[in-house]
Amino acid sequence: METYDIAVIPGDGIGTEVTSAAMEVLDTVAEKHDFALERSTYDWGTERYLEEGAMMPDDGLDRIESADSIFLGAVGHPEVPDHVTLNGLLLPIRKGFDQYICKRPNKLFEGIESPLRGYGADDIDLVVYRENTEGEYANVGGREHHGFSNEVAVQSGLFTRKGTERIVCSAFEAATEREGHLTSITKSNAQAHSMVFWDDIVEEVAADFPEVEVRSLLVDRASMDLVRRPEEFDVVVASNLFGDISTDIAAIITGSLGLAPSGNINEENDYPDMFEPVHGSAPDIVGEGIANPLASILTGAMMFEYLDDGKDAAADDLWNAVEAQLADESAPRTPDLGGDAKTVDVVSDLSDRL
Ligand code: ATP
Ligand code: MG
Repeated sequence: METYDIAVIPGDGIGTEVTSAAMEVLDTVAEKHDFALERSTYDWGTERYLEEGAMMPDDGLDRIESADSIFLGAVGHPEVPDHVTLNGLLLPIRKGFDQYICKRPNKLFEGIESPLRGYGADDIDLVVYRENTEGEYANVGGREHHGFSNEVAVQSGLFTRKGTERIVCSAFEAATEREGHLTSITKSNAQAHSMVFWDDIVEEVAADFPEVEVRSLLVDRASMDLVRRPEEFDVVVASNLFGDISTDIAAIITGSLGLAPSGNINEENDYPDMFEPVHGSAPDIVGEGIANPLASILTGAMMFEYLDDGKDAAADDLWNAVEAQLADESAPRTPDLGGDAKTVDVVSDLSDRL
């Protein structure tokens, strides 16, 4: 039987709860489709940081670089600043393995209350391709004192041709595959260097994809339209900062953070991709057994799609089962979706459907 090595980092808080829930479901589906997951579990995260001063060991990347894929639950802790969790684990993996695509699909499932349902936005099905390695988060800049009265902080964005071209290309390829259209998010009216460069590259790449309809929207207008007419978005390509903001909007208009999966991807290199739900460690509900496991289960479906020779049938099976469960009024739901079910109830109902 085909076996895939998965590096599993359950992480912190509900990360560990949703990871074990997801693994149970993923095993069920894998078995049905004649393959198996061989897991190596790593106890990296804020507990380790609080005890040993580092989120992961120095040779962390070496230990997981030959895995077929990486599955991450969530990292975060109320007493550990976000920049520690980011710089101590997430960014080293994303950057170390050059995972330049942050792919976040958002779909409004039948049976889900969106804050926008009933306001003409009932058919949301979009996917954001966010640049994941450079841009506004490259942290180029610094702070300087020019005397007491004029302290200065400079925060530059770093946009390389290679970095911009490859994310834009991937988004065009996705739009081609979906037979859809593309929205590029920009701010070239106010950022005359980076965003004009971005727009130029979008235009150049567009010439290679004549069948894909493409439009550019300023980020302020795009944010408004994501709320006002989300149905008009299909594939969205955005820089690191603009993608960060628009993916949060897209996640909330489709009902709950507990439903949003994501992947950090580079299909061109030999390093593993990393899949993680969009939500964090949710300290407010940890230990109660009520975390919604569906985001991490759909994250597993994305992971299946990106395994070597793509386990698309297994992924479809998962998406369909989740869709059927959400559409069924009598099925168990966790409190974030208005129900009173536990994580385990959702998992066992889903396993039955599978
Ligand atoms: P972190 O610092 O780890 O990012 P956070 O509190 O900033 O944590 P999230 O963990 O994403 O951010 O939580 C935001 C809100 O959404 C919380 O109220 C949390 O309980 C809720 N939430 C997030 N994920 C889930 C989930 N899977 N199931 C139910 N509720 C969730
Ligand atoms: Mg957070």
